[in-house]
This record gives sequence, structure tokens and C-alpha cells, in this order.
Amino acid sequence: MAKLIVLGSACAIPDETHENTHLALLGRDGAFILIDCAGQPVIRLRRIGLHYDRLTDLILTHFHPDHTYGVSMLIMEMWLRGRRNPLRIHGAPHCLERVEAMMQAYDWDTWPRLFPVSFVPVDSHEGAPVLENADYRILSAPVKHFVPTIGLRVEDRRTSHVLAYSCDTEPCPGDLWLARGADVLMHEAAGKGIGHTSAGQAGEIAREAGAKRLVLIHYCVDGKDISTLVPEAEAAFGGPVTLAEDFMELEW
Ligand SMILES: [Zn+2]
Repeated sequence: MAKLIVLGSACAIPDETHENTHLALLGRDGAFILIDCAGQPVIRLRRIGLHYDRLTDLILTHFHPDHTYGVSMLIMEMWLRGRRNPLRIHGAPHCLERVEAMMQAYDWDTWPRLFPVSFVPVDSHEGAPVLENADYRILSAPVKHFVPTIGLRVEDRRTSHVLAYSCDTEPCPGDLWLARGADVLMHEAAGKGIGHTSAGQAGEIAREAGAKRLVLIHYCVDGKDISTLVPEAEAAFGGPVTLAEDFMELEW
């Protein structure tokens, strides 16, 4: 089965037990993909038994700090630990240009024997390809946030089962496109308002899209009551709802 591990489940403000949202997508041969990058991923990956050398691709959904601030630490730490394997970074041009500028601000072109890093821009339309490997076919759609942002539709190539990830968005056509018939819809639930979605709205999207299962992520934790999120989404969806937690494993 296709497998994803939640490395962080919080919205922009984390707490002691909820890191900012980022995800590891596992391949069957031990290689894996990172989706967004917060904190110190190398250490977090070690905790779940993943070695940084097996990271092939990093997908960045948008250039906000809580989704990208870990990139410089990830690259520096892998370099210092002796990584030689190349890394591809995928995302909208708006995001990739800024990540590259951020790394240039750290003078990364002067780091001796830095492993190869390439940037792969993703187009801004529903169904835009992100990457394809032996395990997954990953498509994207633009969603509605404060800066250019992509959501993802991850298809297991062996079973055709789909996990959709809304990323940060308010309800919008791209969001619905991603979620259509998904086996798992992982949806943000940061709250109702411009650029974000409430748990109830995530439930409505899951119902409208015909998703089989809903997982709420990127929710507010610090000093917030999170016990209402699942019931609120369940009432709107009418299907199974789970609250993502750090290190939760999802199979689909
Ligand atoms: Zn954001």
C-alpha cells in the first residue's frame, strides 16, 4: 500500500507536540519524497527510520515560512553529513525563485562539494504534472491562498488509489478538482476566512468531491480547543474523519 507519514500537523503556529505541517511520502524501495519542509527534517526523519540519502524529491507547496523555513537547514545538514545524491525541488516558480534566493543569501554556491540541487517548476493549472516515479504519479492544481500555492493529487501507480492534499487554501475549484473521488482527502483546517478552510468546510468539500475518507491537518493548536474539529467535519461530510497528529502513518 502507498504510505505517508505526517512529520508535522500544525498550522503556522506550532507547539511542543505539533510541528508545522510537512509530510514524508514513502516509496516501496526505501526512497522517499518530502512535501514541504519545516524544522530540522533530518533528525525528524531519523526518528521514523528514514535516511536522508534516500530523499529523492522535495515538493514545496508555497513560499510561506511554515512550509519552507526548513529547506536551508535540510540542505546544509545533508551537505555536512556527506550527502552526494542529487535532490530535485519542485514547486511553483514564485516559490522556487524565492527558495533559490534564500539559498543564495547563504552563499550556497561557495559550499565545497555541495550535492547537486535542481529546481523543477510546476505549471499553474489543474492536472499539472509534478513528478512521476516507480511508485507515484503526482499532479497538482492551483489553490486559493495568499501567494501562488499548489495542492497535490498523489496517485499510487500500482493501485490507482489517490491521496489528495489541499495544502493551504480556502474552498475553490482547484481544491475540489484535487479531492474528486479521492481515497483519502487530507485537508487543511486552519479556520474559516480568506486563504484558509474550517473543519466544517473541509467536510463539505469531502462530501461534494465524493472522497472516501477525510483527514484534517494544518489546524491551530497553541491554546486552542481541537476537540470540536472532527465532529464539525463529520457533521458536514457524513463519512469517516481523522485528525492528523505528528508521526501518524497513513496508508491508502
Ligand atoms: Zn501558507
